[in-house]
Amino acid sequence: MPPGIDIQPGTGFVTDFSGLPQWHAPIRWAIIQLTNFANTNTGNHDMNDKRVYSFADGDGHNKKLLGGKGANLCEMTQIGINVPPGFVITTEACLDYLKENRLPAGLMDAVQEEISRLEDATGKTFGRGDDPLLVSVRSGSALSMPGMMDTILNLGLNEATLAGLIQQTGDERFAYDAYRRFIQLFGKVALGIEDEHFDEHFEEVKQRAGVKADVSLEASHLREISQKFLSVVRRESGQDFPQDVMLQLQLAVEAVFRSWMGRRAVDYRREFHITPDMANGTAVNICTMVFGNMGDDCATGVGFTRNPGTGDNEMFGEYLTNAQGEDVVAGIRTPKPLQNMKDEMPQQYAELVALRNTLESHYQEVQDYEFTIEKGTLYCLQTRNGKMNAAATVKTSVDMFDEKLISKEQALLRIEPELLEQLLHPSLDPASTVEPIATGLPASPGAASGKCVFDADLAEKLGKIGDKVILVREETRPEDIHGFFAAEGILTSRGGKTSHAAVVARGMGKPCVAGAEGIIVDVGLRQAHVGEHILHEGDVITLDGATGMVYFGAIPTIAPHFSEDLETVLRWADEAADLKVMANADTPDAARKAREYGAMGIGLCRTERMFNASDRLPIVIDMILANNEADRKEALGRLMPIQRADFVELFTVMSPHPVTVRLLDPPMHEFLPTEQQLLEQIDTLRLYRDVVRGRQTALATFVTPPELPKPFDELSEELVNDALIKKERMLKKVRELQEVNPMLGHRGVRLGIAYPEIYAMQIQAILEATVECANNGLSVRPEIMVPQVITAQELAKVRATVDELTEQLEKDFGKQLRFKFGTMIETVRACTRARQLAAHAEFFSFGTNDLTQAVFSFSREDAENKFLPMYNESEILQDNPFEVLDIQGVGQLVDMAVYRGREQRKDLKIGICGEQGGHPNSIRFCHHVGLDYVSCSGPRVPIARLAAAKAKLSEKEFVDVRS
Ligand code: ADP
Ligand code: MG
Ligand code: MG
Repeated sequence: MPPGIDIQPGTGFVTDFSGLPQWHAPIRWAIIQLTNFANTNTGNHDMNDKRVYSFADGDGHNKKLLGGKGANLCEMTQIGINVPPGFVITTEACLDYLKENRLPAGLMDAVQEEISRLEDATGKTFGRGDDPLLVSVRSGSALSMPGMMDTILNLGLNEATLAGLIQQTGDERFAYDAYRRFIQLFGKVALGIEDEHFDEHFEEVKQRAGVKADVSLEASHLREISQKFLSVVRRESGQDFPQDVMLQLQLAVEAVFRSWMGRRAVDYRREFHITPDMANGTAVNICTMVFGNMGDDCATGVGFTRNPGTGDNEMFGEYLTNAQGEDVVAGIRTPKPLQNMKDEMPQQYAELVALRNTLESHYQEVQDYEFTIEKGTLYCLQTRNGKMNAAATVKTSVDMFDEKLISKEQALLRIEPELLEQLLHPSLDPASTVEPIATGLPASPGAASGKCVFDADLAEKLGKIGDKVILVREETRPEDIHGFFAAEGILTSRGGKTSHAAVVARGMGKPCVAGAEGIIVDVGLRQAHVGEHILHEGDVITLDGATGMVYFGAIPTIAPHFSEDLETVLRWADEAADLKVMANADTPDAARKAREYGAMGIGLCRTERMFNASDRLPIVIDMILANNEADRKEALGRLMPIQRADFVELFTVMSPHPVTVRLLDPPMHEFLPTEQQLLEQIDTLRLYRDVVRGRQTALATFVTPPELPKPFDELSEELVNDALIKKERMLKKVRELQEVNPMLGHRGVRLGIAYPEIYAMQIQAILEATVECANNGLSVRPEIMVPQVITAQELAKVRATVDELTEQLEKDFGKQLRFKFGTMIETVRACTRARQLAAHAEFFSFGTNDLTQAVFSFSREDAENKFLPMYNESEILQDNPFEVLDIQGVGQLVDMAVYRGREQRKDLKIGICGEQGGHPNSIRFCHHVGLDYVSCSGPRVPIARLAAAKAKLSEKEFVDVRS
């Protein structure tokens, strides 16, 4: 191993490359691969061939081997909870079976041995005698996974043990009921016989008996049904129902193993990205049957150790007396709340409370458990971590810490960051039963109602007079921005989750439904068609951006709940994390919101969004149309005070936190109308001119011309001509600016180099705002960020302007200005030249949207609208790299740029401001490569804060997937 290269103890992962003289990919990856290879080969894999573990011996922590259910049954048994005796067949046996297509040699012998032990422990006998041992056969993989096999109950029944059971219980009805259930379930699960073959006979007997409910059937009916079921098995499988109970058991085990590769299970794993690493194969749990249906001193139920809806620390759950487990779930009878047990079965209730306490203090987590009471004895049949809503999860974290049940770290680690999304937006009242009129993509979460309007200007006008509006467009463009500000929500009929509408709405934290193709917007007629309905401008609609549903009328919404508990958890998160969390925010309003979400600064303020506001756009257009530097400077002179005022407000809101301002980035044509729009406007203006000329000719025939009413008195040929000339100049400019690929064209710093006065104006506005804030006694920390940089020379040029202006200002101000100068890293070349860039830059911010486009050679819109979904579906790519940072590709460049940048400048501040910066897995990677901060849209800030804490707390478990 080269000197200075450390391998992190315990994991074997290479984490410290400081000994390498310079960043060098081949060496790094070779080392990582070597050490990882060594890990998989010498790691602490259990190499023994034991395939069967008694509940008394199995390792309760080894869910991969024993499955979740099995591991917990073992664990509970070993800590003294009353679990019916049983054993687990491992997931490795399952994998062996699937590979060889037969059970591993000796497996059934080991099973036989365990069965004998069960016989000893219970005093019952398997397959014979008058106290027969019956078992359940239950599947269970490392992750709970619906869609796998049904549990077989009462295995071990045959003609002989049936007689025994009748004799033992004296209850013929009970015995036959168990028998017919077992034959059907076994027939279905192990022999593949469809339910309908059984149901047919069942219904027939029921009808003949004249009963509606199953419970009204008598023993004789159930006996008849059992006989018929046996013949169904004979007919459908060509074999007699197995009387040999070991054969029953073997067939059941094989069926469970096969269900791992069943279609439902395979689909489920694909849908939820469950990799073999997370769960591989299913275990089989074989558990002595206990009966909750042997009389009124019997019961069965399910419980939660705390209320999963509110998080309240109370007994929660339901039970049924004289019933079997599945009856509670199946809803055949209405179960009673657990609290009723206090009166009905006081002793068992007390035991249940004790069970609940034991489970929680042992697992240090809210548990979801199953129990059965057989003749007064309480058994626990299953436990697992309880799934709760976001509010309950947060509350239980704080409560369990206060109760000293868990540490702060555990309290943070048990909350899935994405879960917080639920708490940060208004949601539709769940009591509402209104049917949606259309559906689109859930593009930005939250719910809102308002009058629909079809253009941004009207949205702004109505918004100003206090109307709540929903902006409805086919798709949106940057010039619609003022409509976004005014709207409660945005609805588009075209575009995906990353369309302009979606991205801007998310940034503002407003709900958005995008690509609702069922809606056909006709702006001209001021209406939209939705199926056969017509939506007129002004009609009230409701959007649910979390589901993509659109409703007619106003549906009540529930305000988001930023509870005290959530504040507490997030405060803990900030204390634990290394990464700081900033927000992407372009306006003082967005900045204020970001502060509420706990942003520790602004990581990206896009100045072009300020240019688009309706009071600035005309000046911006003048600037673009200017044919010479002087005219351009004149327009910029008008823009400067407006920008400065923006910055003063923004800095003030964020004081004392940093605000990173990106200099102008988009190509200029984005501020101008399209060629098509201009052609139409010019046509209209020409028509006007003809009308005005005609009017003048007509007026000339009067001796004393009559006074014209407004606005005709003012409409002169001169005015119209002026407008025409302006539009024609615009058209000329639009044609001049046209580019084949504007995103790779004249934009970013390239604009700043071509028109230095634009950047100079922005820089001056930032610096003067800094002075003004300082004069107001505020501590502000602006950071000037240059976009699209590829070479140090570009930075040097912009830096020169900054230095010149700074010198001037500092002279007047009499003090040093405190700010940072840096660059966005969003081109591949910037990554490779990071060392040289760092000579000029005090900070880097990875613009991972553009960087991802560059690394993949994908244009984002085309990728997302055309082939990316297909790539994800067929698993060529696992995620959308525009949502989740592509660690293997883009991540390598990030890593390299960090390394090279810091080599030049030790204290280089580095962050990420692409959309991926709000994604927990991406945040984990950012922590790992040593970034200082992530920046994301305001509403994702709380999620990112928690994710940043979790990245730190679980850094030891970080699995490097770069190689
Ligand atoms: P699931 O994962 O669908 O809950 P389970 O294997 O937990 O499947 O079992 C289904 C039902 O059968 C549950 O209600 C469970 O409590 C009950 N059950 C399973 N094994 C036994 C047993 N040995 N004795 C009594 N009831 C059982
Ligand atoms: Mg269960
Ligand atoms: Mg960019």
